[in-house]
Amino acid sequence: MSNKTNYEYLLSDLNSLKGVGIKTQNLLKKKNINNLFDLLWKLPKSYTDRSLSTKIENLKIGENQTVTIIPQKYNFPRIRNLPNRVLCRDETGEIDCVFFNSYEGYIKKILPLGKEITVSGKINHFRNKYQLTNPKYVSEDSSLVQKVHNKYSLTDGISEKVYNKIINQIITNLPSLAEWHSNYILNKFGHISWNTAIKELHKSENIGRYKDNFYQRLAFDEIFSTFLVNSEIRKKIRKVKKKSKSINIKNQNLTINKLEFTLTSDQKKALEEINEDLKSKTKMFRLLQGDVGSGKTIVALISALNTINSGFQVAFMAPTEILAKQHYNLAKKIFSKKIRIEIISGKSIYKEKKQILKNLESNKVDIIFGTHAVFQKKVQFYKLGLIIIDEQHKFGVNQRKKLSDKGGVDCDVLLMTATPIPRTLTMTIYGDMDISIIREKPKNRKPIKTYSKLENKIDDILKFISKEINKGNQIFWVCPLIEESKKLDHSSAIKKFEFLKKNYPNQVGLLHGKTDVDTKEKILNDFLKKKFQILVSTTIIEVGIDFPNANVIIIENANKFGLSQLHQLRGRVGRGEKDSICILMLKSNLSDNAKKRINILKKTNDGFIISEEDMKIRGFGDVLGFKQSGIKNFKLADPIHNSDLFLLAENEMRRIENSNESIARFKPLIKLYDRAEIINDIA
Ligand code: ADP
Ligand code: MG
Repeated sequence: MSNKTNYEYLLSDLNSLKGVGIKTQNLLKKKNINNLFDLLWKLPKSYTDRSLSTKIENLKIGENQTVTIIPQKYNFPRIRNLPNRVLCRDETGEIDCVFFNSYEGYIKKILPLGKEITVSGKINHFRNKYQLTNPKYVSEDSSLVQKVHNKYSLTDGISEKVYNKIINQIITNLPSLAEWHSNYILNKFGHISWNTAIKELHKSENIGRYKDNFYQRLAFDEIFSTFLVNSEIRKKIRKVKKKSKSINIKNQNLTINKLEFTLTSDQKKALEEINEDLKSKTKMFRLLQGDVGSGKTIVALISALNTINSGFQVAFMAPTEILAKQHYNLAKKIFSKKIRIEIISGKSIYKEKKQILKNLESNKVDIIFGTHAVFQKKVQFYKLGLIIIDEQHKFGVNQRKKLSDKGGVDCDVLLMTATPIPRTLTMTIYGDMDISIIREKPKNRKPIKTYSKLENKIDDILKFISKEINKGNQIFWVCPLIEESKKLDHSSAIKKFEFLKKNYPNQVGLLHGKTDVDTKEKILNDFLKKKFQILVSTTIIEVGIDFPNANVIIIENANKFGLSQLHQLRGRVGRGEKDSICILMLKSNLSDNAKKRINILKKTNDGFIISEEDMKIRGFGDVLGFKQSGIKNFKLADPIHNSDLFLLAENEMRRIENSNESIARFKPLIKLYDRAEIINDIA
């Protein structure tokens, strides 16, 4: 038996449940339900009310009813297709329990003669007698028949009866855990304990009572545990003592002054914050958040320069080879010749790569650019002082934690993301980091004008394109992503390419996921040099690439994309001084919801607002690609409806951090809720 005061009972394996076979266990595991705790979050969707246990004389035909009877006589005809019957009785009358396709042995087991049994199900009437066909719930002890029978949205193959039995078993054995919240917090939820709250959660009469204390408390627990884990990670990282870097401001400003533009005040502020971190004796773990085109790259590069000038090496990781190359080129352009800059890619020639790796190890390279290739085991640094990771929003906490460990004690970490997120989610998603935000866009930026156009109006679009080309402008043409098949994805881009080539001979280029690296680079370079005017591509141009001369982007089948993604794509234009235009091509039969979403993009260029709206429409899991990020989805908490709880949790978190309270009392909370298992030991 389990120690009932211990949370560990809830973390035990499914096979610790009584009466649950391997088959059921496997079905549950398929649904990612691996222990008893997981089972608690499968909530009843509706229920059958069996609380009105009735005497036989009061049974209502056609309704679901519960009745306690005593089986009197088996009637098992030897004729095919005739059902087995059991004559039953209470003090008010008779009823037949009828079984189709059930073995006699089973029937005898569940309806033993002479014993008081409670059965339940739909009542019908046949040949002047009440009849209950295939009774759904049978128990020897009427007190064990749940008053109400919860209906869950179930995994195929698991019956409601089994599921109710499982949940009841867990709830009966629920350990009573010592309270982890402060009185102040408990006050907000009517002092309901976790234990009671769970019980309330599974009561059928409580379905949909999201505003009740039990629900709110449990949602809060969930949010708070996430914040707590994040805060612990952050504390751990802060504890790491590193050698401080000395920033040579003169040197920094020499480079800044040579740029073609002046930094915006947000860029300057971010740079100062990063410099402070570099100078400090604790490890930097900072996120640089800024909308597309806000100018994060230059901030990162100057930070890299400062790190190098302080005697360290830098690793700069980008999500795609193209982007790594672009960053590499920019560094080549703005850094002095003395700085040794390299790039490695999956496609680098073996011999060259080997040489670069050797040079890295012997401190003959100052900064290395690349994709995740720069973090392979065989890549060894002489003295790595800063890791920069661009466009990392799909990294989860776990990956980030690994990353911060990776560089060693003296290595600072700077992450960049162009994915603005709703305010309520900042602590949830990035609570383990310090954050610098660039809100202000460079002064020369004009908002991108966004239009929608029905697919069948493609001729209008072609006319428009021709005009733009005559003005010397360039155009991105993004083809839809067809999720199921990468091949089709390409084929739609190829088709469009062929089509446009007929209209604009020698003016169209094509790029998709299967284009090899060298060709890709050539095409992108040619496009940059204006050798052709229209670049047809799949979404690979989504992240980070910078083409100042391109001012029009056409996105086919736009409603296939999420709002944030469309905003990112749109951000590929509008970086120069020209008017920029985004045309969203749509199929004619759009739903109201789809129209609403498209309108948001037309109305605003502010990524923060867009993410907020996107979340309202699609829920936060979809908006942020949580699945990829490995960040768990909340089970009860909802950033839209529970924004107050998110704020409350943030305040409580700060209070605890500032008061230096021990968090030992939260151990069960963390152990139960922290699926990432990042925190192994708590004070
Ligand atoms: P993102 O934040 O999306 O990564 P980038 O760093 O790629 O944006 O910058 C987008 C473009 O803006 C680049 O062409 C860059 O040279 C330019 N840029 C950056 N900062 C400024 C600035 N302060 N003034 C003008 N242009 C800038
Ligand atoms: Mg960028």
